[in-house]
Amino acid sequence: MQLDTSQTNHQAQNFIAGKWQKSAGETRPVISPYTGKNCGEVFYINKDDFNSAVDSAKSAQKQWAQTPLKARSAVLFNFRNILLRDQDKISHIVALENGKTINEARAGLMKGIEVLEYALSLQNSDIGGKMEVSRGVFCEYRREPLGVVGSITPFNFPAMVPMWTIPIAIVLGNAYVWKPSEKTPLTSKFVADAFAEAGLPSGILTVAQGEKEVVEMITTHPDIKAVAFVGSTKVAEIVYKSATAHNKRALCLGGAKNHIILLPDADLDVTGMGISDSFTGCAGQRCMAASVLLAVGEVDKHIEKIKERAQSQVLGESMGAIITREQCDFLYQAIEDAVKDGATLILDGRESKKPSDMREGHWIGPTILDNVAPGSVAACSELFGPILSIIRCKNVTEAIEIQNSSVYGNAASVFTSSGPMAEYVAAHAECGMFGVNIGVPVPREPFSFGGVKASKFGHGDITGDHSLDFWTDVKKVTTKWEMQKDSNWMS
Ligand code: NAD
Repeated sequence: MQLDTSQTNHQAQNFIAGKWQKSAGETRPVISPYTGKNCGEVFYINKDDFNSAVDSAKSAQKQWAQTPLKARSAVLFNFRNILLRDQDKISHIVALENGKTINEARAGLMKGIEVLEYALSLQNSDIGGKMEVSRGVFCEYRREPLGVVGSITPFNFPAMVPMWTIPIAIVLGNAYVWKPSEKTPLTSKFVADAFAEAGLPSGILTVAQGEKEVVEMITTHPDIKAVAFVGSTKVAEIVYKSATAHNKRALCLGGAKNHIILLPDADLDVTGMGISDSFTGCAGQRCMAASVLLAVGEVDKHIEKIKERAQSQVLGESMGAIITREQCDFLYQAIEDAVKDGATLILDGRESKKPSDMREGHWIGPTILDNVAPGSVAACSELFGPILSIIRCKNVTEAIEIQNSSVYGNAASVFTSSGPMAEYVAAHAECGMFGVNIGVPVPREPFSFGGVKASKFGHGDITGDHSLDFWTDVKKVTTKWEMQKDSNWMS
């Protein structure tokens, strides 16, 4: 499928009580990173419409909570079929507004569908538990939804990140209020329309467009019981503090600076592709992208392989664009600053060939900085672009120390052919997700996703088994129907 960059008239409105509404807030253009030009418009929700959306969500949720889990799952089954049917259309809008390649957009949607499939499995696996604790006395767990829950998502995965939480929260009986990124709001139309077609009752999914003001509406509204956030660390902390100050449960995933420890015994081909694709995929705009390579000992042959593979990327074909002009300018500047700080530029993405028909897009190619000093900006700050900073290390101990000195703790990996060494690094790296010879160690369902340190505020994870207690309360029910002869201390 070819990307059609001539589309300019997409609209992102607000989905309130099952209907799309412009609301009376501001209107903003949505810019495609491919062209630097409008591909649509987003209409921000105002406070009155937001409050009325939450009222509708609250009343719809009461019915939804009483619908058996298997019946709720039936709606999500329909939703899955619609997403699969419409995957071309959805991948296209994701690519257009976000700058990913269509293949990357499709892969993100598929990962979202994998989380949806996990949510569908709950009807068979999340059966609580019941046992006779004394003669004639039974204890039982019952999972109960919280009510209305809120979620704020970033620009970098317009379909996948929302799908980390929407299916699980909804199948468990909650109503869900979603604020997409104002930079990539168009995909929400396709997701909400798919839910409506699947038979989701009106009010169970709300889409509220906007920026900071709408985030504040979510974190302060008394009827919203829990808030999930995914985005930068700075905003994750703001949202976490506001939501918890308003007595809400909050789980806020933040930014990252992911380290890869490369050892001389690593397989050359696995390393070349694994590390290169990790920092260039999605043009480096993923929280799981490799951004620091801790090169232990003599690994020049490996670095050459990484560079060769990165050089083969073609902007506008195998590699997409950067979300905004400002972010692209920031990356250009970050490269210049790193060189001033003493780094050696061994691959300069500022010189990569731009697609001739989309010269106004936000382009930068793969960039590799060698001999980066630990403690410098290129070594420590999240740049969020296709830039790999190489720090030369004497030994694994030094590499682990540098990795663990990061404020972030999202992901880390080791590339080696030694099992004991891989185990050693896995045991000592401070991160939530770890990979062995894997450049992007995203856990696949049913394994949960989530970091530690400044990459996450709150407890638990955002997907998989470790997410269930976030979206629900567990009621403990103890039952006795008749007097028992052999009463004990408990009965
Ligand atoms: P961002 O923090 O700028 O925005 C995220 C959301 O917060 C958006 O919906 C935005 O409208 C809202 N927002 C922005 N400023 C706000 C403010 N001052 N107050 C309240 N809300 C505000 O993040 P982004 O640029 O959209 O996404 C990129 C960031 O997200 C990177 O740091 C990346 O590492 C991170 N990310 C993390 C994960 C993870 O799983 N840890 C996943 C994806 C992205």
